[in-house]
Amino acid sequence: MRVLDDTRILIKEKVGKIQKISFVYETEPWGIRNQPSFYNQVLEIQTGLSPHDLLKSLQDIENEIGKIKLGKWRERLIDIDILYYDQLIIDDEYLTLPHPEIQNRKFTLIPMCEVNPDFIHPIFNNIQKELLLKCPDKLNVWPLNTNLV
Ligand code: AMP
Repeated sequence: MRVLDDTRILIKEKVGKIQKISFVYETEPWGIRNQPSFYNQVLEIQTGLSPHDLLKSLQDIENEIGKIKLGKWRERLIDIDILYYDQLIIDDEYLTLPHPEIQNRKFTLIPMCEVNPDFIHPIFNNIQKELLLKCPDKLNVWPLNTNLV
């Protein structure tokens, strides 16, 4: 997957060391159904950047890869979100941590469970596996190139 390969190269250059990496998961489109599938991957990264500097670097990478936005929930080339930053809780005009939608999306929880299943959500106080069990999302998420769901 060329876009994800290029993104990981830029993350290593500009952000820090990739410590863990999930499979790429194919996901039915969220919100608007008649558009192609999405591909999602979770990385665990060690960085010296502050949360806001990290956000800025990831936005620079998105721009470098060529972010094409066709509207909310429409297909885009790359969208990089920060799910967690250690156990930090932040909510300002630039950054919300943990990412506010983690608990609602299987396409984040399934790769999170692969990479760090026992990581505790600092607001809900649940580990990722528990969040996945409670998640109401019904969309299919499956590892790329397999028939497993
Ligand atoms: P989107 O393009 O829909 O991913 O939204 C990007 C916007 O969300 C940016 O302007 C960020 O400042 C903001 N944002 C807030 N919290 C986060 C987060 N945890 N990860 C990435 N972007 C975030």
